[in-house]
Amino acid sequence: MKILAFESTCDETAVSVVEDGRTVLSDIIASQAQMHALYGGVVPEIASRHHVEVISQLTEQALQEANCTRADIDAVAVAYAPGLIGAVLVAVSFAKSMAYGLGVPLIPVHHIRGHVAANYIAFPELKPPFLALAISGGNTMLIDVADYTDLTVLGATRDDAAGECFDKAARVLGLPYPGGKPMEDLALKSEGGVYKFPHAKVTDCPLDFSFSGLKTSVVNLAHNAKQSGAALDEPALARDFTQAISNELVPRAMEAARKTGRTVIVAAGGVAANAIIRGDLEKSCEKAGYTLYLPPLKSCGDHGAMIGAQGFYEYLAGNVADMTLNGFATMDVGGTENA
Ligand code: ATP
Ligand code: MG
Ligand code: FE
Repeated sequence: MKILAFESTCDETAVSVVEDGRTVLSDIIASQAQMHALYGGVVPEIASRHHVEVISQLTEQALQEANCTRADIDAVAVAYAPGLIGAVLVAVSFAKSMAYGLGVPLIPVHHIRGHVAANYIAFPELKPPFLALAISGGNTMLIDVADYTDLTVLGATRDDAAGECFDKAARVLGLPYPGGKPMEDLALKSEGGVYKFPHAKVTDCPLDFSFSGLKTSVVNLAHNAKQSGAALDEPALARDFTQAISNELVPRAMEAARKTGRTVIVAAGGVAANAIIRGDLEKSCEKAGYTLYLPPLKSCGDHGAMIGAQGFYEYLAGNVADMTLNGFATMDVGGTENA
């Protein structure tokens, strides 16, 4: 089954053709990151307008690269939540028109379910059940993946996402947007052990995360140094900050696996590209005897194939939409609450 998949929830416009959930025939991504770098973050209206401009052309490219005509497409999948609503609606409207025109099923896909599904493409043997650590620009959560379309959030951030924290820290250090990769490059130049960051405990739900204290702390450290003229060891700051984030993520993932009895751990999302976090996950999983799946670096961030992969399993579960499908800015990964 060939699925034409669309993704426009943030600042990537992506179109892909995926066969049977696991084989990528094409995966075209147009990133607007450079456009938003000027403003230090994504400007929602610019993002939406750019998606509108490029989505048809990218679709042509995706079909051509997959060696497909429109008649070969069996279904259309689209990331319909969560994301910047103006951006989300571009792919939703386009995908609806496409499904309507072709007379094929329309499959709505949760963006974070898509991030998790990126691993199905990279690892043909991977099947639920497993525990997923989804760490991205707008979300940080531990998910029990009982089956392809049976996901339950065990813990999530109460405030900022891990990726947001990297982007903010990078900004105060004068690094370009998006800040995750530049922060990683800086951090790898130092052994750290210089700066201390707060550790957040969420007492009523120990698997929940909180990153606002960490974020404020890095901003204050940088500003205070600037004001007092004190030297800032920027590589050490980046290293200690990354380690502090990893120390929030990795032990909670281990605890969630222990609690649920899952022995397979899957990482997902843009922040899963981070070498220090990947290394810590590897060490902890090895110690605990868990099997770890780390997505290839190119599959961590937003792309269309991840929507096509998850879309296949949503289709098999009967999760198709009619022509009233809407986009949503927020939605539980279990698919219950939306706005
Ligand atoms: P969401 O998926 O929550 O809707 P998003 O789609 O914007 O948000 P992703 O595309 O999954 O998020 O990931 C982007 C985030 O990942 C950015 O915050 C970016 O800085 C971060 N990131 C990318 N590479 C790295 C890295 N090597 N280390 C840390 N963070 C990284
Ligand atoms: Mg992006
Ligand atoms: Fe994403």
